[in-house]
Amino acid sequence: MQARLRPENRQPDKLLRRFERLRHRIPLLISGCMVRLVLFDIDGTLIHTGGAGVKAFAKVFQTEFNAVEGFEKMKFAGRTDVSLVREFFDYHRIPHNNSNLAKFFDRYVFWLDEMLGRTETVICPGVREFIDDLKALPEPPVLGLLTGNIRLGAEIKLRSAQLWEEFETGGFADDHELRDQIAVVARDRGSRLVGRELPGEQVVVIGDTPHDIRCGRAIGARVLAVATGGSNYSELESHRPDWLVRDLREIHAGQVVAGAN
Ligand SMILES: [Mg+2]
Repeated sequence: MQARLRPENRQPDKLLRRFERLRHRIPLLISGCMVRLVLFDIDGTLIHTGGAGVKAFAKVFQTEFNAVEGFEKMKFAGRTDVSLVREFFDYHRIPHNNSNLAKFFDRYVFWLDEMLGRTETVICPGVREFIDDLKALPEPPVLGLLTGNIRLGAEIKLRSAQLWEEFETGGFADDHELRDQIAVVARDRGSRLVGRELPGEQVVVIGDTPHDIRCGRAIGARVLAVATGGSNYSELESHRPDWLVRDLREIHAGQVVAGAN
């Protein structure tokens, strides 16, 4: 259908003035559509730690709580640290009070650091280039973390790959036990850095499991799924992320920030 001009806009000078007003708003309109916050999951998305985190968990359960049985049944991918500890405490009927949780995480960060020294941390393919490309954009977005790791655990892991300094903000397992709520915290912290409340379409979540896709959806964000970690390509595909790649070499940062599928 052809657009019809309102009677008041049929005069050429009024049309010109209207165009002038709009012309100044075009850059704002374009940048208003762009992604201003990119939130990365850590394990299986940014890095592989050779199982250092899982080994540290097992070591603390064993040495501090004498709890070993059932550990091999736990599924770590996409989970939050606090929910994993509670699950194992429940299995062994250990009270998950603040004292036991504090005791666990106090020893966990020690053993995580220790285990990372015994394993090799590998950066997932394309991560370094993707981050560099994001930072090189004319209007680079804020880079943050959205992870089930506690904050200190995230820092220890990412420092072992020289990636910690790349991120300005984030949401962590210390903020909330539920990943969807960690996403809310990460978005709100990112919004404060940008200086305004970010709508979901200006946020991208990048992760390697359906948990990441779900928590991105919980804040209305677009989701880029990468098949470099806990889930294979077809499993991720069934959760319908906005973008799906085998690894980050398959997509350009500018494409994601423009919101283009
Ligand atoms: Mg992950």
